[in-house]
Amino acid sequence: MNEINAGSASHPLTPNQEQRLNEFFQFLQGEADHFLGYPCTRNFDYTPLYRFLSLPMNNVGDPFIESRYHINSHEYEREVIAYFAELTHARPDEIWGYVTNGGTEGNMYGIYIARETFPDGLVYYSETTHYSVPKILRMLHARNIMIKSQKNGEIDYQDLAETIRIHRDVPPIIFANIGTTMTGAVDNINKIKQIMRDNAIHRFYIHCDAALGGMILPFVKHPQPFDFNAGVDSISISGHKMVGSPIPCGIALARKANVDRIARAVEYVGTLDTTVTGSRNAITPLFLWYAIQTKGTAGFCEIIQHCQDMAEYAIKRLHKIKIPAWRNLNSITVVFPKCSQEILDKWQLASQHDIAHIITMPHVDERHIDSLIADIVASEKQHGKHAIKRGGL
Ligand SMILES: *Cc1c(COP(=O)(O)O)cnc(C)c1O
Repeated sequence: MNEINAGSASHPLTPNQEQRLNEFFQFLQGEADHFLGYPCTRNFDYTPLYRFLSLPMNNVGDPFIESRYHINSHEYEREVIAYFAELTHARPDEIWGYVTNGGTEGNMYGIYIARETFPDGLVYYSETTHYSVPKILRMLHARNIMIKSQKNGEIDYQDLAETIRIHRDVPPIIFANIGTTMTGAVDNINKIKQIMRDNAIHRFYIHCDAALGGMILPFVKHPQPFDFNAGVDSISISGHKMVGSPIPCGIALARKANVDRIARAVEYVGTLDTTVTGSRNAITPLFLWYAIQTKGTAGFCEIIQHCQDMAEYAIKRLHKIKIPAWRNLNSITVVFPKCSQEILDKWQLASQHDIAHIITMPHVDERHIDSLIADIVASEKQHGKHAIKRGGL
């Protein structure tokens, strides 16, 4: 603690309060050992950055423009954006971006830019899209149509094509999933562009929700197309999911020409207002920068390979006990019929309708999967074979 913080205005915690915090920390550590269902890694160590938490840092405004608020990390934020621009094959002079509070903000940003680009546009998104998207569409008052999904979670191209054909008079804004929340399905950008060509539609916008997929596909041998090379207009990627961070964060990338449409000068902070929020987190860009420096592309490749191997291992182990587990191409989300409530709770597994999933994030190894399998077997013995509904996909 520095001198400024001491003084009569604050006093130390009581022993009871201290003990409460200690117990809370131990509880969280224990839960982090049974963390198989959500796409967030627990593998990170930002200890060398803790000192920055003692300053009133704030990245208010556009990271590419000097602001009058100097206690910021814009320089590091720009390097993070440059790294993700490279990963997504953007030409540096063509792309703008910033570090967000998470995937949701990046999706809101993408739809906002799309709507400003095509005010009469119609947003198409599939029924397996993240739950935050219908909310964003309501907030932005964006006209939209929900499209059917296929069984694996991918958008139904026939339904999309038919719906677009009926509304050919307005520019389509496609909200594409690059890894759906429940099944890790990737919408096929080439097929979507083919639908535009088939309908002679030249004015359209494609936003990619690459919350998890955006940190997987750049590091696999045969990625599905999803980036600026594939002709998309904006991308949202989560930072706290695969890179890892104790504070949620993400990366939003968009074509500069479209961003210029929404920029407004703000005299108060002496910068451009190009972001969704005013005050912005200045610590998370440092976390992301640190991860990029210490792991690098080679490190991320190794991590993603481990995740892929563990997904394959989980499927093999589940098949061995006759549970029909499966995953989409390049996905680390292993889907299987919903199991008993106890197991969902213990391992913090997400479930929807009759399916559940585990996501083999970097901290997941064979021991976790073996232990989950043992729990499932024990639960079946206790509750009978119907503890897990067989069949399904
Ligand atoms: C996690 C996720 C989001 C939301 O991202 P947050 O970082 O939690 O805001 C959006 N879409 C998909 C597919 C996700 O997996």
